[in-house]
Amino acid sequence: MTIGIVGAGQLGQMLALAGYPLGLDFLFLDRSAETPAGRIAPVLAGALDDPALLTELARRSDVLSFDWENISIDALRTAARGTRIAPPLKALAVAQDRLAEKNAFERLSVPTTRFAAVDSRAALARAVRRIGLPGVLKTRRFGYDGKGQYVLRDPVDIDTAWERLGGAALLYEEFVDFDYEISIIGVRSRAGQVAVYPLSRNYPDAGILRLTLAPWPAPRLARAAAASLRRVLDAFHYVGVLTIEFFVRRGRLLANEMAPRVHNSGHWTIEGAVASQFENHVRAIADLPLGSTAPRGHCAMINLIGTMPAARGYLSQAALHWHDYGKQPRPGRKLGHCTVVESSPVRRTARARELLRRLYPELSIRP
Ligand code: AMP
Repeated sequence: MTIGIVGAGQLGQMLALAGYPLGLDFLFLDRSAETPAGRIAPVLAGALDDPALLTELARRSDVLSFDWENISIDALRTAARGTRIAPPLKALAVAQDRLAEKNAFERLSVPTTRFAAVDSRAALARAVRRIGLPGVLKTRRFGYDGKGQYVLRDPVDIDTAWERLGGAALLYEEFVDFDYEISIIGVRSRAGQVAVYPLSRNYPDAGILRLTLAPWPAPRLARAAAASLRRVLDAFHYVGVLTIEFFVRRGRLLANEMAPRVHNSGHWTIEGAVASQFENHVRAIADLPLGSTAPRGHCAMINLIGTMPAARGYLSQAALHWHDYGKQPRPGRKLGHCTVVESSPVRRTARARELLRRLYPELSIRP
């Protein structure tokens, strides 16, 4: 069975690495074959919405998926012609548009931030009056890792915010003075079986995830997040892995966004869970039974960003797992990650601190 994937980044690479032991084959489409997945699988090189290449990908695949959400839904749907696509495009369409996403959260009783659609300067001024300050103006589409956002703290910021982002369809939402950020990752099979991973606690810096600790010991929040995730999975008759990111404010959850795919905050599951998020995504879309999402230990995952540290100095550490995606270094670029699996939450936090101190002494993240 061949799985065709639009996007050949590190997520695609890790999907293929998880699928090979199950006897599955992979074919990717990306702008270049010089990509992380291109190191281990064939890549059709060209534009992600190229009709001829998408048609070839569909023709040579038994099921189609994607490792990146900013792809053309119309182009993929047209080219698929009967080849099954998972996760469902309806869920992808919602995740591509922050307004549709917020509306879906409200419809499915997933608690989220107060928000308003903004399509003019006057609408922004109205939204600021209704929702208040501070607030965040975000582009509805193509935003990730904090890109396409502007924080307003004072009414005079309305003009600058509108100047910066006014060219696109927008959403204004309350600025959440959150205590911390978490994510919940789960998987649904074609038969409707659902399995949910333990909660991940996420530590971003400048909008980019730097550190995840999981399982995060907050049973009440984990139950609430899993219940929200299940509602979304079932509503979309979802197939594959889905992630929802939440802010935690005074012990309560507020959904920030969802990703219809495997997620950076779930990389710890490769060594830290019985079946990883990548294996379970592949199992679900290939119509195989799901694997256990139970944890194998207490994990810390650190993203390796901008420059790739020399592995030599770290590989001698016990229970440390190194992942180099083989990408060209560039400031702010995710080049790899490392995960430690420990026997207790206290030990894992100590390892995370020590690793962060060595890898990124300039960062102010304090787990
Ligand atoms: P996003 O692209 O929506 O995931 O946002 C990136 C990061 O910006 C989040 O992880 C938060 O740290 C921050 N952020 C986004 N939206 C808000 C908000 N409404 N209030 C406070 N911080 C936010």
